[in-house]
Formats: sequence, structure tokens, C-alpha cells
Amino acid sequence: MSKTRILLIEDEENIASFVAMYLKKDGFEVDTAATGARGLELAAREQPQAVILDLMLPDMDGFDVCRRLRRDSDVPVIMLTARDAATDKVVGLELGADDYITKPFDPRELVARVKSVLRRVQGRGQAGGGVKLMAGELTLDPDRHEVAIAGEPVKMTAKEFDLLHYLLTNRGLALSRQQLLEHVWGYDFLGDTRTVDVHINQVRKKIAGAAEIETVWGMGYKLK
Ligand code: CA
Repeated sequence: MSKTRILLIEDEENIASFVAMYLKKDGFEVDTAATGARGLELAAREQPQAVILDLMLPDMDGFDVCRRLRRDSDVPVIMLTARDAATDKVVGLELGADDYITKPFDPRELVARVKSVLRRVQGRGQAGGGVKLMAGELTLDPDRHEVAIAGEPVKMTAKEFDLLHYLLTNRGLALSRQQLLEHVWGYDFLGDTRTVDVHINQVRKKIAGAAEIETVWGMGYKLK
């Protein structure tokens, strides 16, 4: 079996080599890029299974890198944020990042996050068991990993897809934010429930007109 490839986009040499060392020790193949441009080039060429992306890069903003990555890939992205700024996290998640970690961090913690993101992505194919899920004109195909409205494909990030999948599986049921966090992000996710709200808003916009995600006051959400 070939090794799982991780792309690390980080210009700080000491952090990059430190993180790469930990990932390699855990059996991952690691490509490192010190600029956003180089990172995008490697992402296209090497097709990594996950990307670790620093927000502060010399040539471009990490958000721009994420936006460009998302144009043609739903590879899981973990962002490295230097500040503990909530807005950075929300913007990152809105752009399709799957998780974030604040510097300074323990590299073992980052490796755990990478594994958790990969587990969720890899488990995704089996979860649906080939059963297409539908709500009105909205369809979700777990095997092909596709969402469509009246046959027209809708582009979703990995996390948005997982979230919609879980909502469709539990259609009509009120789901708490905590429950969504645990099932969609995994029990080991350390973010807060605001992450759920950000993703719900994204999914809501994308499926508007076809299906409605209702806010259950004081509790969570429900797909009608
Ligand atoms: Ca940096």
C-alpha cells in the first residue's frame, strides 16, 4: 500500500521541518512548500490526501490558497492560525477548511488532527452503503460523493457534504449542535459549536430552494 501523502504549506522553516518530522515518523509521506504558489503547484501535481496550510505566507494569504485549492479539490485542509482570532477560524471554515489549530501547537496534536480528518474522509464512502438520499429535488449520492438539485450538481466541501449527509440520514429530527459536532466532526474535534453554525449556513445557501434547514431554537437544526 502506498503511503498517505500530506502537503505542508508553511514558510517558517523550523516549524515545517518539525511538523514534517512528526508526520514522517507516523508513516506519512510529506511534501513541504514555503510559499502559497509552490503549495498550489504541489497540490495539483502530487494530489495529497490532506493539506496543512499556514495562514501567513510570504507571497499570498492562506485564505487565498484555500480558496484556490477548493476550486478543483475537496482535499481536507487543516489551517494553522497564528492568532487565536475567532474571525480567522470562521473565515477559514467558510472557505472550506476542515479544521484549524492555533500556534503554538504540539505537533502530536496536529498529527492527531490529520489522522482524524483522514478517518472521516475515508469512512465517508462506506457510510452511505450506496443508498442515495433525497429530499424534494435534492439528492445526495454517498458512493459518488455528489450532491445535486434537480439533477444539477452542487459543489460542496468535504465537511459540508458530511453535514448534509448526516442531516438527510436523520431527516425530520432535531439535532443538537453537540450531536452534529460529534457525528460530523468526530469526538476528538476540539473546535466549538460555532463551527457547526458556520457550516450549516454554507449548506443552507447551497441547497436553498430545494430543502430547508430549520433552526430549532436553543437546540440545533433539523432538515425539513
Ligand atoms: Ca508563516
